[in-house]
Amino acid sequence: MEDSKEKKLIDKEQKPQKKIVKPRIPMPMQDPKERIKNFNEVELGYTKEMALEEALRCLQCPKPQCVEGCPAGVPIPQFIKLIREEKFIESAFLITSHNILPAVCGRVCPQEDLCEGHCVLGKKYEPVAIGNLQYFVADFARKSKACYYCDKEPPNGKKVACIGSGPASLAVASELIKKGYEVDIYEEYNVPGGVLTYGIPAYRLPWEIIEYETNVLKENGVKFILNTKVGKDITFEELRQKYNAIFIGIGANQSLYLRLPGENLKGVIQARDYLRLVKENICFGANNIIPTGENVCIIGGGNVAMDCARTAKRLPHKSVTIVYRRSLEQMPARKVEIEHAQQEGVIFKLLTNPVRFIADENGKLKEMEVISMRLGEPDSSGRPRPIPIEGSEYIIKTDLVINATGNGADPSFASAIPELKTNRWGNIIVNDNMETNIKGVFAAGDIVTDPLTVVAAIGGGKKAAQSIHKYLSQQ
Ligand code: SF4
Repeated sequence: MEDSKEKKLIDKEQKPQKKIVKPRIPMPMQDPKERIKNFNEVELGYTKEMALEEALRCLQCPKPQCVEGCPAGVPIPQFIKLIREEKFIESAFLITSHNILPAVCGRVCPQEDLCEGHCVLGKKYEPVAIGNLQYFVADFARKSKACYYCDKEPPNGKKVACIGSGPASLAVASELIKKGYEVDIYEEYNVPGGVLTYGIPAYRLPWEIIEYETNVLKENGVKFILNTKVGKDITFEELRQKYNAIFIGIGANQSLYLRLPGENLKGVIQARDYLRLVKENICFGANNIIPTGENVCIIGGGNVAMDCARTAKRLPHKSVTIVYRRSLEQMPARKVEIEHAQQEGVIFKLLTNPVRFIADENGKLKEMEVISMRLGEPDSSGRPRPIPIEGSEYIIKTDLVINATGNGADPSFASAIPELKTNRWGNIIVNDNMETNIKGVFAAGDIVTDPLTVVAAIGGGKKAAQSIHKYLSQQ
């Protein structure tokens, strides 16, 4: 008996010890009860100790699959290795050399579908918190007032104009400035950032983050020409005369209408307008009148719908309800956004679709007629098709409806340039090199793809920058 006990002990000691994978370090957050009273950032960021512990979970894979999942091609194991060595600023700069918006992407990228979705650790355990680590080092560099300066080739005398100052244009500029080009970014508003600035609420992406990361580009020589709308303040033709190549990165800012009776009533608003009005007040001290109501309904189930609902929760409304035509499992919003909305008290009315909007005697919205839905066979998106249940219509009391069913390309820009080819939805058509049908004119980001992720726009912008460089090098 004693012998066999001893044998077991020896066997155990001689077996190679398995690596113990510690649980993922959760991101510290503001308490839901507190955070719905303010617009401060919900995520509080890792401490140095948390970042070091989480960085140790990375296996430093020789063939890292996480990088395969990053559209910006960030060298993930290398930046994590620098964290382990406590070289936080070097780590941030390594990321910045591949992705000019590390703090933005650390906050808003759907990492669960990208880098973290590919992390080998995720097959058995929780993946490495790559996004949280990127957030930590980017903030460390920002708080240390460190500025990334890229290695630049000597000026080559060629000039490129970027139209729009969203992530695609910022990526183009960051790549071309390294190659010795002069890059000017044209922005119609008085601050840069495009969808980052006006489309993402401050509690998810504070303005100072966007400001710092666009300032890095300015420090590297990129010029921002603000309050200048191409097609109004300067013509596209003038740009073509002035620059050797043009990049169009204007995003997809056109609201998709519901096409329902009563949609034009006072009290029915588009998500992009709502988010912009609130963000201007919160971040830039504007005095916009924000549409309010007692019972707010948000139509849609994507991230923009969650953004509107969570923004509305921070304003004085009695109830905030998401109305979505499918079930919770099919919602396109990030799981974390849905969870945060639930924690903050947003009501979810699922398998429900609006039918019409009803006004009071003053022409202001007072009710919305909805219909119950059931799920049928999968449609072209692969999700079960929502089918209205006949005779199931009923009335919801609501005095503010926010339409967050999606955005598409604004056709007005391309229609002012008759020779520029677009598809039937108004998206600019490009070839594999992101080149439009007009020589020397390139495009990427949401205006080409419709709304995708910030990092997808960065990936598109980087690809366009390579093509612009190739095109101008051959001239
Ligand atoms: Fe580290 Fe995961 Fe990337 Fe491997 S796949 S290097 S574990 S982050």
